Amino acid sequence: MNFETSKTLFKDAVELMPGGVSSPVRAFKSVKMNPIFVESATGVMVKDVDGNEYIDYVLSWGPLILGHSNDQVVKRIQEQAVKGTSFGAPTELENKLAEIVIDRVPSIEMVRFVSSGTEATLSALRLARGYTDRNKILKFEGCYHGHSDSLLIKAGSGVATLGLPDSPGVPEGVASNTITVPYNDKESLKEAFDKFGDDIAAVIMEPVAGNMGVVPPVNDFLHFVRDITEQNGTLLIFDEVMTGFRVSYHSAQGYYGVTPDLTCLGKVIGGGLPVGAYGGKREIMEHVAPVGTIYQAGTLSGNPLAMTAGIETLSQLTEESYDHFNMLGDIIEEELPKIFEKYSEKITINRAGSMIGFFLTEGPVKNFDDANRSDLDLFARLFQELLKEGVYLPPSQFEGMFLSTAHTKEHIETTLKAFDNALRRIKS
Ligand code: PLP
Repeated sequence: MNFETSKTLFKDAVELMPGGVSSPVRAFKSVKMNPIFVESATGVMVKDVDGNEYIDYVLSWGPLILGHSNDQVVKRIQEQAVKGTSFGAPTELENKLAEIVIDRVPSIEMVRFVSSGTEATLSALRLARGYTDRNKILKFEGCYHGHSDSLLIKAGSGVATLGLPDSPGVPEGVASNTITVPYNDKESLKEAFDKFGDDIAAVIMEPVAGNMGVVPPVNDFLHFVRDITEQNGTLLIFDEVMTGFRVSYHSAQGYYGVTPDLTCLGKVIGGGLPVGAYGGKREIMEHVAPVGTIYQAGTLSGNPLAMTAGIETLSQLTEESYDHFNMLGDIIEEELPKIFEKYSEKITINRAGSMIGFFLTEGPVKNFDDANRSDLDLFARLFQELLKEGVYLPPSQFEGMFLSTAHTKEHIETTLKAFDNALRRIKS
């Protein structure tokens, strides 16, 4: 397989942009190769600038739940583009997308559209702090909620301690208002509430973690978080930027039957265009300006092209779409371990609806420490060999694979064969 054009473009790109990319993980650093530059994509197939084609499990990191360049989505975007691309004034499109979101996501009675997942989470946190008049927030290790200061935090030493900045440029004062505890760990969460309960404005969490690979909540963990937040007057924020409309028709909260106070959305609701949203109880949302005093705004918020792509995408998703994801996911869960066994390699597969994560270690994988036991060198080799086989996985062990309605049984069978071939080459 020839990657020469990608190589040349990357050489130019690194002189123009930090790391040659607009977002770090695209640089392929953790899989130890140069990134491929994409030319075009249709359905599940991505074509790079050298003419190589791949079955795509990245799907733009989740948004493209109908696959690439879905005919109807493209048509509607074109129709809207002719009418105007941005007005900075209300449109009926926002009402329509809001109605769909409110109808399907149990916790959302009112919604505010923004332009990214990062904006959604930082706005929801501001709202939670303003509403509760408290300063601290609690997040879980290994959960990613975008790159705003108070969320770029790693754990301090020991559980239930105040956080430390994860990046230069995040002030210690900001970090010290973020408490971090391990995911799926009730004891640590309880300890944190015993210590700081009166001042925790919000717990923010991915109801299924998707940024340490895919790690679903164990047993009644979400119920436990719901109860402890309620008992302490703390708001519960589900960051469903990734899980929203991916885990089920009613998102992760519908699937697990736990209703948070606020929910953040992104990715799928923009159908491949930049959209985020946060919403929740009317009584809380009415504190957002201009009804309330908590300020948040955006020049391109509710952008008509993005609203159009979102409406068309969500309209095409039905309950049956999730049966399709589960059918494909079941095949992967059943067949992939057999291939790994053949080559005496360990694998643990975690899945939630159309999100699939595999770890190259023995399970169970329930938190970030478990995920870190995965064999990262083997993952990098596997990624490279799969690319040669025409299968494009997320270029990081700590990202999940995504399915779309455009994926078929045949794509999965081809992918499983590709894994077999890739492992055979690695082990020979
Ligand atoms: N929250 C979660 C759970 C995410 O997975 C992401 C991005 O991957 C974000 C927030 C940030 O969204 P964005 O990249 O659109 O800012």
